[in-house]
Amino acid sequence: MIEFGAHAFVWIGAWDTESGNQTIRDAARAGVNFLEIPLLNPYHFDAASHRRVLQAEGLGATCSLGLPAQAHLPAHPREATVFLQKALEQTAAVGADSLCGCIGYSLGTFTGVAPTAAERQAVVDVLGSLNEKARGLGVRLGLEAVNRYETYLYNTLSDTAATVRQIPGMFLHADTYHMNIEEDGMYQPFLDTADVLGYIHMSESHRGLLGTGTVDWDQVFQALAAIGYRGRLVLESFAAINPDLAAATCLWRPPRHNGAQLAQGGIALLRQKAQQYSLTT
Ligand code: MN
Repeated sequence: MIEFGAHAFVWIGAWDTESGNQTIRDAARAGVNFLEIPLLNPYHFDAASHRRVLQAEGLGATCSLGLPAQAHLPAHPREATVFLQKALEQTAAVGADSLCGCIGYSLGTFTGVAPTAAERQAVVDVLGSLNEKARGLGVRLGLEAVNRYETYLYNTLSDTAATVRQIPGMFLHADTYHMNIEEDGMYQPFLDTADVLGYIHMSESHRGLLGTGTVDWDQVFQALAAIGYRGRLVLESFAAINPDLAAATCLWRPPRHNGAQLAQGGIALLRQKAQQYSLTT
C-alpha cells in the first residue's frame, strides 16, 4: 500500500521542539500517513517530546538529513560516522523507521572533479557499517540522488542505485526536482532502479506548489504504475523561508504559497494521480 508523507519544511523553515511538535499536528491535519523530520542537528533534538506528539496524533515518521561540511563522508569518514550514528539513535528514539536524504555527502561541498571510485567506496563502507546498527534498531537507510549544483557525488538514480544495491535492505531515495534537472525523462529511470526504489520526494521543478511547474506528473505516475510501486510518496515543497533553508536550497525568491496551500494542493494532486494510475489499490 502506498503511503503518503510530507517534509516538515512544507510548513516551517527550521525544526525545534515547539515548531516541530506544531508541524506534527499540522501534518496530521493535512491527512498524510507520516511526517519526514529533518534531523539536521541530531545533537539538539527532543525525540521523547516528538514521539509523544506523533503517538497522540497517530502519525508515522521518517527522518532525513544532510551531512555538515565537516562531515562530508568521502573526505571525513570518521566524522560522518559519528554524526550518522547520533542521527540513527535519534531516528530510533523518535519512533521513525527510516533515515534517508543526503546521508553520504554534504550539500554544497565540491572537489572540482567527478566522484572517484574511492569516494563512492567510502560511502559504501561507512553506510554499510551503519546499516548493521540500523537493522538492529529496525531502521532502514535511504540515499538520495541530488542535482549537480548541490553535490557531485550522486546525481542520477542509476548511479545512486549502484551504491544502494551493495548495502542489504537499503533503499534508493529519488526526488523529482533533482530528476527534472539530471535525468533524460521521468519514466525510464524509475524502471531501471525499481529493484531498490523505496522513497520519492515529490517536488515541483521550482520547489513550489505541485502542478504549477514543469514536472511531468503523468509520466512519473505512469512509471510508478509500470513497476507496481508500493513505496512512499513524500511531498517536498518549501514555503517558510529562513536564511539557513534559503541558503541550503538556493531559494532566493519569496514563495507564492503558504504551507497550508502547498500541503493541501500538493497532497490532493498526489492522491488524485495515485488513484488515477491505480497505485492505491
Ligand atoms: Mn529531496
